[in-house]
Amino acid sequence: EMPPVKGDVEFRDVTFGYKEGQTIFEELNFHVKPGETIALVGPTGAGKSTITNLISRFYDVQKGSILIDGIDIRDVTLDSLRNQVGVMLQDTFIFSGTILENIRYGKLDATHEEIVEAAKIVRADEFISGMKHGYRTIVQERGSTLSAGQRQLISFARTLLADPKVLILDEATSSIDTQTEVLLQEGLDRLLEGRTAFIVAHRLSTIRNSDRIFYIGDKKILESGSHEEL
Ligand code: ATP
Ligand code: MG
Repeated sequence: EMPPVKGDVEFRDVTFGYKEGQTIFEELNFHVKPGETIALVGPTGAGKSTITNLISRFYDVQKGSILIDGIDIRDVTLDSLRNQVGVMLQDTFIFSGTILENIRYGKLDATHEEIVEAAKIVRADEFISGMKHGYRTIVQERGSTLSAGQRQLISFARTLLADPKVLILDEATSSIDTQTEVLLQEGLDRLLEGRTAFIVAHRLSTIRNSDRIFYIGDKKILESGSHEEL
């Protein structure tokens, strides 16, 4: 079992490849402090998603170790790790049911009030309350009843409710209008408070708002620093 963590994440001499004889990273080292927001940038195929796959332990490293609050992630159960490492995918998973159920998701004991509170914090409440049936509105898995931005706001609320200390976000590349981008940035800022985050960043606003940028390439972090520094 992984005890409750603060969100300190360290890669120590990590060497990893998906296949024999292939390495995506060689002796990768970095240390992220609790609460830091890291933007992962770099060309396609550089290994941005691979870093996030390793933190949530979808794959094991060949050499070195990954530590969260000093605990090797191989020494704890996957369930307990993933309670504290939350992954938000590009395309938010929506299932057929009410918006309320979609926010509640795995947190089955969450009350209606807690769900509305979470939605308010991440700025999702405005659009939900504006709908005729509010939180009882039925949405479909693949239905176009929700815009890409609205789906993301639901996912922010869902994640806030789940409350992982380390958060991974693969940002959507799909274009959204400026107004929605501002709303999402506000919602995201609220969600990131008190969490360590790794964001595969596509929007300039996300990169600007991160504490540090890791520019990935050549099987390592080529450059790291704030937006002003780089
Ligand atoms: P993008 O910006 O296109 O999302 P990325 O930086 O996220 O790229 P990764 O997905 O981390 O890149 O991929 C890094 C390398 O690992 C690529 O060469 C890719 O082909 C390879 N790779 C990724 N996932 C797998 C997998 N499941 N099995 C084998 N190889 C993989
Ligand atoms: Mg990727």
